Amino acid sequence: MELTDQKENAENRAPRNIAVIGASGSIGLNALDVIASSRGRLRAGVLTVNRSVSKLVELARRFKPDVIVVADSAVDRSPLTDVPIGTDVLFGSDSIDEVVRRPDIDIVLLSIVGVAGLRVAWNAIDAGQTLALANKEALVAGGSLLMDLLEDRGGKLYPVDSEHSAIFQCLLSRRRAGTTPCIVGRDVERLILTASGGPFRTWSLAQLKNVTVKDALKHPTWNMGSKITIDSASMMNKALEIVEARWLFGLDSERIQVAIHPQSLIHSMVEFVDGAVLAQLSPPDMRLPIQFALDETARLPGSARKFDWKQAFSLDLYPPDFERFPALELGFEVAKNGGSSGVVLNAANEVAVEAFLNNRLIRTTLKELPPYPAFLN
Ligand code: MG
Repeated sequence: MELTDQKENAENRAPRNIAVIGASGSIGLNALDVIASSRGRLRAGVLTVNRSVSKLVELARRFKPDVIVVADSAVDRSPLTDVPIGTDVLFGSDSIDEVVRRPDIDIVLLSIVGVAGLRVAWNAIDAGQTLALANKEALVAGGSLLMDLLEDRGGKLYPVDSEHSAIFQCLLSRRRAGTTPCIVGRDVERLILTASGGPFRTWSLAQLKNVTVKDALKHPTWNMGSKITIDSASMMNKALEIVEARWLFGLDSERIQVAIHPQSLIHSMVEFVDGAVLAQLSPPDMRLPIQFALDETARLPGSARKFDWKQAFSLDLYPPDFERFPALELGFEVAKNGGSSGVVLNAANEVAVEAFLNNRLIRTTLKELPPYPAFLN
């Protein structure tokens, strides 16, 4: 489709109605910025949060959705008196299951963090919705089930994780726009996931033994929520993304590689059997992959940052260090073994990250470890 056709289509149709699941998080707020900058192409029909009621009310007043949902029904409800007229208020995670199935929703943007996303993804796909997926844990824990369900229900899935969006964009150059899920063809040799390397990219093994929560939360290139920032520091984020890519694109773990790229400008690459490599580049800004998913692969003007071509810049690429970042190997192992191994890896990681963030994870060795869960206290 030519750009002028895309523009005309976008201008002539009713706004695409978006359910933003996890509206107060980093991806949710970026998505609302994309919606606000979409010149009427996109509309926030549903907004949900876990507990951030005041933020939700502020967003509801600005975006005038049809429905808002607070997942945790035990929260203080007093700020909700300021919800605009015409916006319904629902509570509880059952209500989230309900709103993602609404027939007036065109796209469900799943931007909550953690394995809680699996249930939402399941409901959206089961209802045949188009799903823009920013949550990686759903695919790590339930990738094979979700992809089978997607095939059965015939919905669409657009990756929002920047690396997977980049691969999706490179693959789309080989086929007609709008085809999804993007299972790789025989012409693809391998996928190369780029990783910034996080704040500890240059730290020695000895230094890594003494990291603090504050050190780990200092990401060099991306500004994200705390869970994914800790995952990036340990490179568990890349491990989860290896598993995510394995299910999303339907290929063996041997055909996935990781390259360290400190500038975070190349968001990932596809190598074809003839040796050609396609890469997707843009400044590190989640609004681009979000917009690409919400506009269903149309290239349209938006609010994402652009390169300043008057500035010099360089692109460095290094092989990963599996000794300093052993989490990476776990990602390849889970991608290879499948089954319930993704559930185990993801659950162990979620518990460990939570404990680390609350200063409850102490450095120890397996020999010193008391029986679970005493080591968390
Ligand atoms: Mg990513």
